[in-house]
Amino acid sequence: MADHITVSRDLFDEVMVPNYAPGPIVPVKGQGSRVWDQEGKEYIDFAGGIAVTALGHCHPAMVKALQDQSEKLWHVANVLTNEPALRLAKKLTDLTFADKVFFCNSGAEANEAAFKLARRYGYDRFSEQKNEIVSCKRSFHGRTLFTVSVGGQLKYREGFTPAPEGIKHGEFNDLESIRALVGDNTCAIVVEPIQGEGGIVPADKAFLEGLRQLATDHQALLVFDEVQSGAGRTGSLYAYQHYGVTPDILTTAKAMGGGIPIGAMLVSDAYAKHLAIGTHGSTYGGNPLACAVAEAVMDEISSDAVLSGVRQKHQLFKEHFNQLQSEFDVFTEVRGEGLLLGIELAEAWHGKAKDFVNAALQEGVMILVAGPNVLRFAPSLIIPDEDIQEGVNRLRRAIERVVAA
Ligand SMILES: *Cc1c(COP(=O)(O)O)cnc(C)c1O
Repeated sequence: MADHITVSRDLFDEVMVPNYAPGPIVPVKGQGSRVWDQEGKEYIDFAGGIAVTALGHCHPAMVKALQDQSEKLWHVANVLTNEPALRLAKKLTDLTFADKVFFCNSGAEANEAAFKLARRYGYDRFSEQKNEIVSCKRSFHGRTLFTVSVGGQLKYREGFTPAPEGIKHGEFNDLESIRALVGDNTCAIVVEPIQGEGGIVPADKAFLEGLRQLATDHQALLVFDEVQSGAGRTGSLYAYQHYGVTPDILTTAKAMGGGIPIGAMLVSDAYAKHLAIGTHGSTYGGNPLACAVAEAVMDEISSDAVLSGVRQKHQLFKEHFNQLQSEFDVFTEVRGEGLLLGIELAEAWHGKAKDFVNAALQEGVMILVAGPNVLRFAPSLIIPDEDIQEGVNRLRRAIERVVAA
């Protein structure tokens, strides 16, 4: 019986596949931007479950949406449509360039749909040869075999070959390097407007504009992976709006569900038709429960109040980080937009980002890494200013701890 099981971090090593290395505590409760572990110790959440909990934990609008829908209808699969999915799709198309939406359960699946659509587009409109995908080094697009193949980090593909073919990687923010790879057989150019896992590196506006032109010139689709940069994170609803460069396909997940598993591929009418009946699908994609919660989340985060709040809180974080820098001199750069922030560690601390994360956890603040040299912050978009202040106080003690070690 479940009652007799001692649930602790140790149980992880006993019963879980060892592909993760979770920290030493087990969270049991969250409210707003605070989380509590099994011992009752409280943490400030600057991690947001990796850029997911956009409204913090257990936001009343989300709880209500979940509770209401949970008493109505959970699942019918895509043999029938449902009201929450249609409402959410209508909102997403009203709020963006897109005319059509495909729902799925994660960022990787949204990208999988985008890449498959791009290949179908090449196949339907041109020939089987128009199948090449051009992507960027250091990019991250998910962990399925297709998405690790399009992703620009070798370590995620290692040992999983043979991988899908026809994928090339150029340098991010180097238009000429991408131009050299794009040709008549290119069906898609894929880019994160802000590289997340790759170290919180924003694209230059001119780079995205150049990709837009390249894609148009070669009749390739421009795909923006906004799984991390989207859904309010940058202070615009989607980063493409911030840049003023419109893709043909946009993928979104993470914050759009605020914690419920959902992803979506957004696309214009001109290309949606290439995922014709029977070409693609997902049993859970667009299920009423997830869509009802995501609708509540998108209603909140698309408001001017939340989006302008993100830009204000960005400034507040930056001021705090500059202050910490003047005290400790351990950073070289603070990067990012809105509430997707990265701190590049100075050379003496390269490879030690994880030490800062561990010390922060001990001091009661949850932060993330983005590679070995970058500290990443992706808190709730509505994190109270007092929680930012308190989290930074704890971060200061964590930095003192690491520097003294
Ligand atoms: C997290 C992430 C993904 C993968 O999303 P999952 O929900 O983990 O499958 C894809 N692209 C980017 C840019 C991401 O940050």
